[in-house]
Amino acid sequence: PGTEIFLPHRRNARGWDLSCADHLEEIEAARHPFRAHRFEAAPLLAGEAQPDAAEERASPSDPSDIVGEVRFASEADVETALTAARPWTASKEERRAVLERVADLYEENFGELFGALAREAGKTLPDAVAELREAVDFLNFYAAEIEKLDSEPLGRFVCISPWNFPLAIFTGQIAAALAAGNAVLAKPAEQAPLVGAIAARLMHEAGVPREVLQFLPGAGDVGARLTGDSRIDGVAFTGSTEVARMIKCAMAENAHPAAPLIAETGGLNAMIVDSTALPEQAVQALMESAFQSAGQRCSACRCVYVQEDIATGFLEMLTGAMEAFRPTEPWMLASDSGPLIDGEAHEEIAGYLEKMRAQDRVIYQSAAPDAGYFLGPALVRVKGIEEIEREVFGPVLHVATFKAKDLDRVIQAINSRAYGLTFGLHTRIDDRVQYVTDRIKAGNLYVNRNQIGAIVGSQPFGGEGLSGTGPKAGGPFYMPRFQKPCAPEPPK
Ligand code: GLU
Repeated sequence: PGTEIFLPHRRNARGWDLSCADHLEEIEAARHPFRAHRFEAAPLLAGEAQPDAAEERASPSDPSDIVGEVRFASEADVETALTAARPWTASKEERRAVLERVADLYEENFGELFGALAREAGKTLPDAVAELREAVDFLNFYAAEIEKLDSEPLGRFVCISPWNFPLAIFTGQIAAALAAGNAVLAKPAEQAPLVGAIAARLMHEAGVPREVLQFLPGAGDVGARLTGDSRIDGVAFTGSTEVARMIKCAMAENAHPAAPLIAETGGLNAMIVDSTALPEQAVQALMESAFQSAGQRCSACRCVYVQEDIATGFLEMLTGAMEAFRPTEPWMLASDSGPLIDGEAHEEIAGYLEKMRAQDRVIYQSAAPDAGYFLGPALVRVKGIEEIEREVFGPVLHVATFKAKDLDRVIQAINSRAYGLTFGLHTRIDDRVQYVTDRIKAGNLYVNRNQIGAIVGSQPFGGEGLSGTGPKAGGPFYMPRFQKPCAPEPPK
């Protein structure tokens, strides 16, 4: 394929300019009604949903905020959904028009979405803006790619999305599956059904038929029921490597052999900063990559290698930036990051830091509010990435130093962890850029910038090894995976 594959007919969304007072005022006015609003999530099925009572729901990231009411899908609901599911037989033109209408409805309803993203998922305004933008981009991108499709939908697709991008990834998976003509059974993350419910409602409102898209909020049992059913034809999953394994096992036992698992999973992402790097730029890139969104991105930087010659000054600059970083209530404009997603995540990561402290490895941790599930960004000293036990899904950055002559050893250590999602490099030596990026195994390589926030269409996102199956989301090879690999024979 030529370069035209990266030029969809609709441009990526412009998003909002948060340095512009008019934009801020407009956002404040639109999201204000949702400050105390009660959101609702319940199964949206083609058949009759069970009329069980909904449960009052506190925000997982802030238990003092009653954010709405939720009813999880029952076993009978899953059965109803599987029985009622029908592929989307509308023409390519119509599918495209409907998905573009969904994108427009998302943009029109930004106040409600920003409100739910802050209160349910602890998203700061810049994070919410970026997430809405990515969701809109996914819709427009896959809608525009429909015309290139030349096969048939697989059938019933299960889409299981994560709590850290309850709008963007929820939307991306579903948009691709729908654009390819599948019936979708969508299960949002257990922690974030309310954002998913708004998105699903807007998809129906735009004209996606009920039997084509069904929404099944729930915990792991709903996901297990869906992915273990013999009637499904594929699964798109974003979440932990461990759960992806479980899904693969369930599919191996129950689904037909041609049903694919498209998984985007964890990472143990590294950055190398050599002595020619621009320190201000590398520090800024690390602050964003390791600590923005409280480090709750699978793309986040978990381990930085700083060349020994510049390490002292560099770490001083980094801790200075960390000192100025303010995790606070995500609704506030001054918030640099929200809390961790829930009490369990907080306990786990605080416990990890306790352990590191006992080993005298915590170099620095900045302050955070005492209340709620906030955690100040922390630096943990390691000799190398091989010492890190596991992916720590929070604002914890491991720091190692290296000597210039040991660059190959560093590259080898990074690759030895067998993940391969993102990688960052800061250097001013062109040959080194070539040398390192030729050798590092990672899906997304970033040079002299941050290593998060891939842009739909221009930076397709996804990893290799333990980080996922590919194809990359937001790229030209993703959607064809939601169709039969071989086109049927043309009629003679
Ligand atoms: N696509 C996101 C990024 O580039 C990360 C997605 C994830 O954390 O699952 O930062």
